[in-house]
Amino acid sequence: MGEPIVIALDGTSASGKSTNAKLVAKALGYTYVDTGAMYRSLAWYCLKKGVVLDNEKAIASLCRRWKTELRNENGHVRLYVDGYYPEKEIRTAETSAAVPSVAAVPGVRKWMKARQRDCTRFGNLVMEGRDIGSNVFPDTEYKFYLDASLDERAKRRAADGVDENLAERDKRDSQRAAAPLMIPLGARVINNSDMTSKETSTLIINEVLERLEAAG
Ligand code: C5P
Repeated sequence: MGEPIVIALDGTSASGKSTNAKLVAKALGYTYVDTGAMYRSLAWYCLKKGVVLDNEKAIASLCRRWKTELRNENGHVRLYVDGYYPEKEIRTAETSAAVPSVAAVPGVRKWMKARQRDCTRFGNLVMEGRDIGSNVFPDTEYKFYLDASLDERAKRRAADGVDENLAERDKRDSQRAAAPLMIPLGARVINNSDMTSKETSTLIINEVLERLEAAG
């Protein structure tokens, strides 16, 4: 058996990464990894422990010390913190606003990258995030970058009952020095403002299948 295949799905906030990554993973029988959830978990943990968000040293130090474990549950990889998976807590407006500060710390990115690369022990992956094709798995042949108009993305978030400043989060994610949000070299860019998730995921699945076939 060869190296596990990694499909890297990057893009702006609320561009449909999670929905499509899950659909692609299900269709191909690959394991789904939500790296945003990993950064969100650390932001939640920092808030819980009272770590000040502009204190890079304290954030990096907490990240080195927290007790975590990656588990594959029904094809979805989850990061457990002290034996607990903070599913709801990491989706609050407070955590969303805090996460770009945590994600900008170089020590945190290094820690996350090592854990994310380690996920190949779960087999073939669909991994979504901001720097998967550019930084975590730069050598993968399967890179996609999703985007949609700000208006459309705000509507999608509102439909989920979340009201947040997406433009501000994208700006902070794009302008940080360490592994910023960008279109990875060689990525297929999909603007899905006028597309359903069925259409978007089908496009990705077909392209992956074509390339797999071509690669023999
Ligand atoms: O994808 P999601 O909106 O859950 O990501 C939350 C935040 O985590 C992003 O806004 C970004 O600050 C950070 N993130 C990152 N790199 C990744 C995934 C997420 O910096 N690969």
